[in-house]
This record gives sequence, C-alpha cells and structure tokens, in this order.
Amino acid sequence: MLCADLCPAQLHTELSLLEIIDNADLSTRISLRLRSQVDRLIRVHHPAELGDAKLALRGPFRGLLGEGSNSVFGAHIHGTLLQIAWRGIERLDRYQVRAQAGEHWDELVQWSLSQNLQGLENLSMIPGSVGAAPIQNIGAYGVELAQRFVSLEAVHWESMTRKRFSREACLFAYRSSVFKHLSHQSWIISHVDVQLNPLATGESAASLDYRYPDLQQRFNRQPPDSALDIAAAIREIRSGKLPDPKVEPNAGSFFHNPRLSNEAALGLKARFPELPIYRDGEHHHKLSAAWMIEQCGMKGQRLGDVGVSAKHALVLVNHGEATGEMLMAFARKIIELVDERFGLQLTIEPRVLLS
Ligand SMILES: Cc1cc2nc3c(=O)[nH]c(=O)nc-3n(C[C@H](O)[C@H](O)[C@H](O)COP(=O)(O)OP(=O)(O)OC[C@H]3O[C@@H](n4cnc5c(N)ncnc54)[C@H](O)[C@@H]3O)c2cc1C
Repeated sequence: MLCADLCPAQLHTELSLLEIIDNADLSTRISLRLRSQVDRLIRVHHPAELGDAKLALRGPFRGLLGEGSNSVFGAHIHGTLLQIAWRGIERLDRYQVRAQAGEHWDELVQWSLSQNLQGLENLSMIPGSVGAAPIQNIGAYGVELAQRFVSLEAVHWESMTRKRFSREACLFAYRSSVFKHLSHQSWIISHVDVQLNPLATGESAASLDYRYPDLQQRFNRQPPDSALDIAAAIREIRSGKLPDPKVEPNAGSFFHNPRLSNEAALGLKARFPELPIYRDGEHHHKLSAAWMIEQCGMKGQRLGDVGVSAKHALVLVNHGEATGEMLMAFARKIIELVDERFGLQLTIEPRVLLS
C-alpha cells in the first residue's frame, strides 16, 4: 500500500484515487475546532472507491466524517475515519433533484433557488454535507428535510451492497432517523433525492411556510414575495442569533429540546409558567432546552476553554484549546444542573466519539 507517515499521501489503483492522511489533525476539520487527532483519515472521492478504502484501513473503521459540523472528537481517535468527498447536483426531472453526499448542504439550497425551485429555503445556511443531512433529519424554521425527501441510496459497509431507502424506511423523526439507531456506521449514504416545487411569486407564493415565530414577526406587515425573501430573512436571522463557528467554534445546538407528553409538559409549565413550550403533534409538546439552561445561570458561562455561548444558551463553544473530553465534562455538568432544577435529562445532539 502506498502511504506515507506524514501525509497527505495518495493511493492510486487503476480505478481509485484515495487521499490517505496519517495522524490527521481533526481540529481543522470540525466546526468545534477541538484538539484532536485520528490515526488515519481517508478521503474518498467516489462511492466506487469504498472497497479500496476498506483495504486501506489502519486499525478499526471508526465511522464517517462529512464537514464535521455535528461532531465531537476526543484528543486521540484510534483507527480510521472516512471522509466522504464526492460532490455534484443534478435535476432528475422538472422538480426532483439529486445531490451527492459530499456536496455542501447550503450549496444545494442556493443552487435550487437559482434554478427557480423552492422547498429548501427554510433550511438555508445549515452547515454540513448532504450525506449527513438525513442522519438527524436536519430541520430549521418549521421545516425538516423529511418533508422534501424522496429517497436516498446508501452502501452497506460490511457487504458493500447498495440499497435505496424510501422516506418511510428512513423513519424520520425530530433530529433522528433510522441511521441513528442502526449498528455502528453500517450505511454510507451516497446521494439524496429531494422533491421541490416551482418558484412561486406574488399571490401564488401563499404556499410558503413562514409560521415559525421569528419569520411571522418578520413578515407580519408584508408577506414574502417568494422563497428568495424567506431565504434572505433566514440568513439574516441566523447570522444575528447564532455564534459564527469561525469566530466562536461550535456545533450548533448541543442539546435536543425535550419532547414530553402533553400531560407531562403542561405539568411542568404549571410549575414554571415562563417555560416556552410548543405543540408537537397531537400528543406531545417540545420544551425549550435553551430557556432551562439559561434559568440554571449557564448562558455565557465559561469553564477554562469551554463554555455556553453568550448569544445562545443551547450552543456550547470552544474558547481555545479545548478537547472533546473537556467539552463533554462541561456538558454533563449542564445536564446535571437542568436535571436538579427541572427533573429532565437533556440529551446530546452531536455525534460523540472520544477515543
Ligand atoms: C452553527 C451551526 C448551526 C447549525 N444549525 C442547525 C440547524 O438549524 N438544524 C440542524 O438540524 N442542524 C444544525 N446544525 C448541525 C449540523 O449542521 C447538521 O447536523 C449537519 O447535517 C451535519 O453535517 P456534517 O457533514 O457536518 O456532519 P458531520 O459532523 O461530519 O457528521 C455528523 C454525522 O453524520 C454522519 N455522516 C456524515 N456523512 C455521512 C454519510 N455520507 N453517510 C452516512 N452518515 C454520514 C457521521 O457519521 C456523523 O454521525 C448546525 C451546526 C452548526 C455548527
């Protein structure tokens, strides 16, 4: 095998061009910029190269890396991570679009709008790759990927067989899908198909979704003229509300908003009347984890190099030289505080791999 110790090195075979990086620094490859190294990182540029990547492992296969915007890694990861790097967007018919797994999600959103297709505008500016989007059924501003999703194709890591997953087979739920529950990294998503609509303007733009409170407020006097207005508003709102990972390294929301039965949620609301709760289906409510963290006095707090953003209480940040271990110890502290005060165990949104 052609591979240098201090890389990047490339493994050329007749069919493949793998990029192999030994002792790879992960801090520059994840939005939290945690101090972290993996024994080997293999960047794969085509699904057909996955078989070769399997032959090039150093130690055990430890999973996948997209753009690292929802990942926490410990200081040293043993084994090999694969980074999915194949890209491309194409129209399958007038309104159906296929995006390859390594494509930037936001590139897909912007491309679709430039093609006069609407449907993804509420998901503007979510960092990360297309391949990772179904894993937690990305969602924002009242829309989830599941609502636009048609199907995806994935390769099984053990057997290297391909399978098509319909929306039903993906079992999408709030920040969740079947892929979060299947055995460790068994499927590698190679592309995702979405169904969009023609860009509507003026009167016919009534189908746009701006029920989410921030958007309602923005458009209460003058409704949006088209999806382009929604996308622009969301870009502005997100830039003001969330810390920029380039300035304050973070992974977006670190905890899920707890989802409780109506009875349990209303019971808690009776004890804490200011707790923001939102209906989620007929039988459940979602509760604001950010509000609970803020009530525990943690917004803007810092412990060494880790802290809670002063801009948004759901976002944990790396102030300098933090490791994943430090961040997780801090997250556990927050979980304990919220549990003591509200009797609820917050759960963590990003993928965590510590060794
Ligand atoms: C500032 C900021 C704001 C954010 N806002 C939102 C938001 O509004 N809504 C939201 O839902 N999320 C949000 N996130 C989280 C993040 O953007 C999404 O989870 C995104 O889908 C992660 O993509 P990624 O490529 O960076 O994933 P990574 O962190 O690289 O990986 C995440 C998971 O996906 C798996 N994975 C990656 N590629 C593949 C593949 N090809 N096949 C199978 N599994 C794969 C990995 O194994 C891992 O388990 C935000 C993050 C940040 C930093």
